[in-house]
Amino acid sequence: MNDNQKFRIVIVGGGTSGWMTACAISKLIDQHNYSITLIESDQIATVGVGEATIPPIRDFNSASGIDEAEFMMRTGGTFKLGIEFHNWKKKGHHYFHPFGTFGKPIDGLPFHQFWLREKQNGGTTELGDYSLCEIMAKSKKFAPNSTDPKALLSTASYAFHLDAGLYAKYLREVSEERGVKRIEGKIVDVKLRETDGFIHSVCLESSQEIEGDLFIDCSGFRGLLIEEALKTGYEDWSDLLPCDRALAVPSESVGKARPYTMSIAHAAGWQWRIPLQHRTGNGHVYCSKYMSDDEAASILLSNLEGKALGEPRPLQFKTGKRKKTWNKNCIAIGLSAGFMEPLESTSIHLVQESISALIKLLPGKEFEQCELDEFNNMLDRQYELIRDFLILHYYANDREEAFWKDCRNMDIPESLKHRIALFKNRGRIYVEQENLFRLDSWLAVMNGQGITPKSYDQMIERKDKGKVSRHLASMHLAFIEETKAMSTHDKFIKRHCKSNFV
Ligand SMILES: Cc1cc2nc3c(=O)[nH]c(=O)nc-3n(C[C@H](O)[C@H](O)[C@H](O)COP(=O)(O)OP(=O)(O)OC[C@H]3O[C@@H](n4cnc5c(N)ncnc54)[C@H](O)[C@@H]3O)c2cc1C
Repeated sequence: MNDNQKFRIVIVGGGTSGWMTACAISKLIDQHNYSITLIESDQIATVGVGEATIPPIRDFNSASGIDEAEFMMRTGGTFKLGIEFHNWKKKGHHYFHPFGTFGKPIDGLPFHQFWLREKQNGGTTELGDYSLCEIMAKSKKFAPNSTDPKALLSTASYAFHLDAGLYAKYLREVSEERGVKRIEGKIVDVKLRETDGFIHSVCLESSQEIEGDLFIDCSGFRGLLIEEALKTGYEDWSDLLPCDRALAVPSESVGKARPYTMSIAHAAGWQWRIPLQHRTGNGHVYCSKYMSDDEAASILLSNLEGKALGEPRPLQFKTGKRKKTWNKNCIAIGLSAGFMEPLESTSIHLVQESISALIKLLPGKEFEQCELDEFNNMLDRQYELIRDFLILHYYANDREEAFWKDCRNMDIPESLKHRIALFKNRGRIYVEQENLFRLDSWLAVMNGQGITPKSYDQMIERKDKGKVSRHLASMHLAFIEETKAMSTHDKFIKRHCKSNFV
């Protein structure tokens, strides 16, 4: 097939989402039938602060043909075993949201129910005593998880911290090697077909015109195609997740990199600390209704562990999503599709979800409405489930400041109310098949934010208390022993994936 007969995919934007899309589709689709072009402009900066990820990124890497050790070296990456939340429930309190699971089910019954029964009968152990990831994180140890269900390491999982600028650069190199054509230039006009309003072409400042069959909008918050050209509309969720600004600043590394992200709540928002091999990423997400930019900057700068490597960079956003992420012949991926704050590192994951949905529903020259609808439904659902999980962190708090009081009193979605009510009653947690956050994540955050069940599931009464107690104690000890035998996170990186620029 010659180039004129191929189905032409045009990606607009070369940030994390543009290059992730180019890299994945150049590996997964047959380029005899498709051509892939990516347009980016050196005049328009990328956001480039997406630095923490969650475990499914490993599936993305593997499907996209990315070697993990090389990816770590090229992005200055470190391993992530979860997030440590400080001051979220109240000042001075902290908890950990680990990857992997808490313990293992006992005879098919959820592990946490047994822990709840022990706790309600005077037990003093913490949930985290049964999470291998949490124990590893606190000891700054690391080992990759195992797929053998009998191994303790099968209860663990991991993701990465990465330098987003280096990540995009690396993915660009891989994509170009696979035949993706890159065009440097600023798009100044978008031409729509008169017949159906589909995008016909984009025009560059240089007056070059690029036609396409499918346009993927990775142009960032502005949504150059999906919004500015197609006027798709935006669902605003600021009343549920009211933070609307962030300041980001890198700092010098201090000590050995932690294998986890830190999230520290402040008076009207929170701060992230993300350790990389060559520096630490920091940022303060806050709500402008309750805090000035100067105050936010001063809080951020006075809470850095190392010397700031520049001035804080301001970012503004409106939480929510496009009314349709696929509209006509345009699919929005990344910030152009929507944004929820990086509290649980979900943005890069949503890019991955969009790419996966695109590949499952890849259109031909004819665009079928049923495929668009399916894509939009899938993405809508993902956004809503993640939104509820993020709201939980804000809603369940005992802090005193006006921002936190208002979060506590906000009218949360019925779906979340129901989830909290179920947990409060007998600690039950049901998660839908498509929910990114599984039982253990909901458990970690509900427990960590101080939601305490009145009782536990009576189903577990058939299991003897003494025996279960001994089982829990030996499980905890086994996790400790397993962790002692592991290499430190620092040594693991030095041995397997040290960046040559550190
Ligand atoms: C404060 C903050 C913290 C974050 N932290 C995390 C995190 O820890 N984990 C996580 O998963 N995600 C995080 N994210 C989200 C993450 O940064 C984004 O999902 C990711 O960077 C994707 O951005 P993007 O590629 O969609 O857009 P951008 O990075 O904005 O890229 C837009 C691209 O479009 C191009 N472009 C725009 N207009 C034109 C034009 N007219 N002509 C040509 N090219 C054009 C630009 O040149 C650029 O290449 C965070 C976001 C913010 C705001």
